[in-house]
Amino acid sequence: MADIDTLLAANHSYSRSFASLPEPRPSRHVAVVSCMDTRLDVRGALGLGIGEAHILRNAGGRVTDDVLRSLALSTNAFGVDAVVLMQHTRCGLAGVTDAELRSDTGAEVEFLAFSDHSEALQHDIGVIAGTPFLDGVRTIAGWLFDVDTGVVSELHRRHRR
Ligand SMILES: [Zn+2]
Repeated sequence: MADIDTLLAANHSYSRSFASLPEPRPSRHVAVVSCMDTRLDVRGALGLGIGEAHILRNAGGRVTDDVLRSLALSTNAFGVDAVVLMQHTRCGLAGVTDAELRSDTGAEVEFLAFSDHSEALQHDIGVIAGTPFLDGVRTIAGWLFDVDTGVVSELHRRHRR
């Protein structure tokens, strides 16, 4: 069972040396959409500091309506012009079907399971590129993080004027 009191205790020491940032804009103008997998430390893997990027995470790192909702603000209110989609090896959404995940969880939702990282990333890049309110996104990349080596590989990159 989870012990959330230790989280609050940890915050006591964290807050003692906390330095607040003056404003919320991502200083490197980038948003990263990634899986919620615990083995993936997005900031560490990509050398991102606090205040430098919007990091959006969900199961599979898929581009859902809610990701589009957040990116609408990233691009139109916070100056983001590049979106990196970062999936990872040994993902729980890869190599299974939505039907299996519905059966496993009892949740009648769309899980966006997939069989091929390259295809799924290509699809999601297309969703962003085809969303009119995300016209401000100039670069969309599809990357794969290897949870065994920590190496990120680029599978796709699309530039727009
Ligand atoms: Zn995953």
